[in-house]
Amino acid sequence: MRPESLMMSHGYKPSLSEGAIKCPIFQTSTFVFNKAEEGKRFFEVAYGIKEKEKGEELGLIYSRLNNPDLEILENRLCLWDEADDCAVFESGMSAISTAMLEFLAPGDLLLFSRPVYGGTDHFINHFLKKMQIHSIGFLAGETKEQIINRINESGLADKLAMIHIETPANPTNALIDIEMCAEIKNHFSTESKPVVLSVDNTYMGPIWQHPLKHGADLVLYSATKYIGGHSDVIAGACLGSFALIGRIKGLRTFLGNMCGPWTGWLLMRSLETLKVRMDQQATNAIEVANFLKNHPKVERVYYLGHIPESGTDVEKEIYARQCTTGGAMISFDVIGGEKEAFTFLNNLKLIKLAVSLGSTESLAEHPATMTHVDVAAEFKAALNITDKLVRLSVGVEYHGDIISDISQALDLM
Ligand SMILES: *Cc1c(COP(=O)(O)O)cnc(C)c1O
Repeated sequence: MRPESLMMSHGYKPSLSEGAIKCPIFQTSTFVFNKAEEGKRFFEVAYGIKEKEKGEELGLIYSRLNNPDLEILENRLCLWDEADDCAVFESGMSAISTAMLEFLAPGDLLLFSRPVYGGTDHFINHFLKKMQIHSIGFLAGETKEQIINRINESGLADKLAMIHIETPANPTNALIDIEMCAEIKNHFSTESKPVVLSVDNTYMGPIWQHPLKHGADLVLYSATKYIGGHSDVIAGACLGSFALIGRIKGLRTFLGNMCGPWTGWLLMRSLETLKVRMDQQATNAIEVANFLKNHPKVERVYYLGHIPESGTDVEKEIYARQCTTGGAMISFDVIGGEKEAFTFLNNLKLIKLAVSLGSTESLAEHPATMTHVDVAAEFKAALNITDKLVRLSVGVEYHGDIISDISQALDLM
């Protein structure tokens, strides 16, 4: 069965919860053991002192280690990406920072794509730097040879421990080739120092792109975005093999940044409609992008769905291989600058002026002064993050209403 058919029931046994059709919120800090021997066994398994027997389930101990709302949510998230295991977090940033802290040590080198999410950028360039973890950023369009040369020239090739990429990149939908990054990873991996490749897949959500299939080791999500999808919860997730997620769950236990049961319950509720929401958003985005493309006050549209007709050969190839739709994120340059962009944003009626993305309601913002204000000036031009750029997250509303709203706001510009 497909994931969308399993989202209402997978991993939940009503008989364990008085027959309740829905998984209740297990708002409890700790769990009662039937016998001391049982508690002993649960801890042996949880702390890796003894191996789990075949088919044995880890007993419930304490909600920082495990909780039914988290475990069932994790099982359901695994279905979309066909991952072995998943760890959920209190935010996307806690998923990303925990993964980086687990796989990087002082002296190591991190390779990352530019631009990455502002919080990730800050974590890499401030916190990790302070921990003596070096980093090299590369841009979409750089070739494998160019990137390998830069790593070799840094003198830290034997220290490369992790590659972290975001594709398509926020805010202009720039594409990074995941398989190329897997080749770079294999080039530098040794038996004693395997390189880990992580992909922040927030922009495509679990429906439109599956990085594990293209050679990624870890998929990261801000579940605040499409997975939560209603602008009412902050959460994150990391998926991958049992071995890697086991390590991440280990660190999560000691950082204590797992999500709470209420967040877990909200995300399970959201997952039931993930496919229909995202399908509708992608269909709406096609209409909105085509409207913008033909508008006299719009200079350029950055939308993945236009790549098959107007992308470069490299973009066409990556898009065809990695993405199943054009997604629902559209950026565009208005004719003019900040003044015109702000006039547009200030006059929207249906579309809300807010950051974040992937939600049921359409959202619009100004990357250069909002989400990407922190991006170094030297990179802004190369990344097309200019004053005339507006970013849209297309929601589930009727597409004609979204377009009318955009149209009337553009007319006032
Ligand atoms: C929002 C976002 C994050 C951070 O997630 P939070 O849930 O806000 O912590 C990370 N990566 C991307 C691409 C995002 O859009």
